[in-house]
Amino acid sequence: MRRRENSVILLCYPYAFSHKDFFMDYMKSIKLIDKLEASGTLEKEEFVFLLSHHTRETGEYLFEKARNVTNRYFNGYIYLRGLIEITNYCKNDCYYCGIRRSNRQVARYRLSPEEILACCDMGYPLGFRTFVLQGGEDAYYSDETVISIVKSIKAKYPDCAVTLSIGEKSYESYLNFFKAGADRYLLRHETADSLHYSRLHPLGQTLESRKSCLYALKDIGYQVGTGFMVGSPFQTKENLAEDLLFIKELRPEMIGIGPFISHHDTPFADQPSGSMESTLFVIGILRLMIPNALIPATTALGTIDPDGRARGILAGANVVMPNLSPQEVRKKYALYDNKICTDEEAAEGILQLREGVEKLGYKIKTDRGDFNPLNSKM
Ligand code: SF4
Repeated sequence: MRRRENSVILLCYPYAFSHKDFFMDYMKSIKLIDKLEASGTLEKEEFVFLLSHHTRETGEYLFEKARNVTNRYFNGYIYLRGLIEITNYCKNDCYYCGIRRSNRQVARYRLSPEEILACCDMGYPLGFRTFVLQGGEDAYYSDETVISIVKSIKAKYPDCAVTLSIGEKSYESYLNFFKAGADRYLLRHETADSLHYSRLHPLGQTLESRKSCLYALKDIGYQVGTGFMVGSPFQTKENLAEDLLFIKELRPEMIGIGPFISHHDTPFADQPSGSMESTLFVIGILRLMIPNALIPATTALGTIDPDGRARGILAGANVVMPNLSPQEVRKKYALYDNKICTDEEAAEGILQLREGVEKLGYKIKTDRGDFNPLNSKM
């Protein structure tokens, strides 16, 4: 009898041991999430641990805290930005991007200043008070052209914010756009690790240059957005931890996070996509790190899962960016495969969007949705 008891104990021991390990890891993750909420950051190795031991349970714990923070700072409002994809020409050749210079399969297009203004004309009555002009690095849009477009939007819609997302420029160009009335600038850093950066970009594109642009934008006074892909090729948990620490250092007003999704005409065509769960987890972490940041539930999230954007909001995101570009060019701005261009994505689907957001218990806010410093909490 005694022999039998011993063998039962021996048989159960590995299970009890791994169960105990799981419990210890869970408790450590919970403590780290509490620490993150209290202090706004973690040490690099703590971020690595948290990211490496992410489970459904730690995700739920994090997301509940992230939602509470979002509600505290934004009163249950979700902000709208109208995305206008002005050009799919680009002089750069980022390995992950479907509109990279080397992709000869792309049907290229550019919107004229009049067409861009027409997108704003369509968006304004629908409640859009921010227009995001996004495009590749396209020399057709000289500084003078950009300045004139910004000025014409601001003259016609003085109660609207203009966000630019047109890549790396000189300090002087950024300053001139700002003086013309541009309020915000989006420029994802993509990875804060130089080696990883060099594996995602060809020679000539450097992390140093990307960072110096971001600091220039901050210095000038823009509301600055940065961000990165989760699950990009060669990315490690250490890379992600460095991304989080860089964001803490830069303190951007906006943070765009999406899963990596491959494009079939790029060198990364066969690379697996990033996971939605990991992307949501990073959004939750960022919400606790920078409580008042404007964090979009990105199109890429909606592309890998039909519920992706709703789940992004439930993980701590508080911005949606419907597409105001003309219908005929939307499919041509394919940064990755299967990018959603559905009716819900279109401005005409704004009613559906409002309903979807309300079902989650939030409301769409019709105003510029500027960043508010912590000492002027809304
Ligand atoms: S990611 Fe941006 S800069 Fe890079 S190739 Fe694509 S559009 Fe150009």
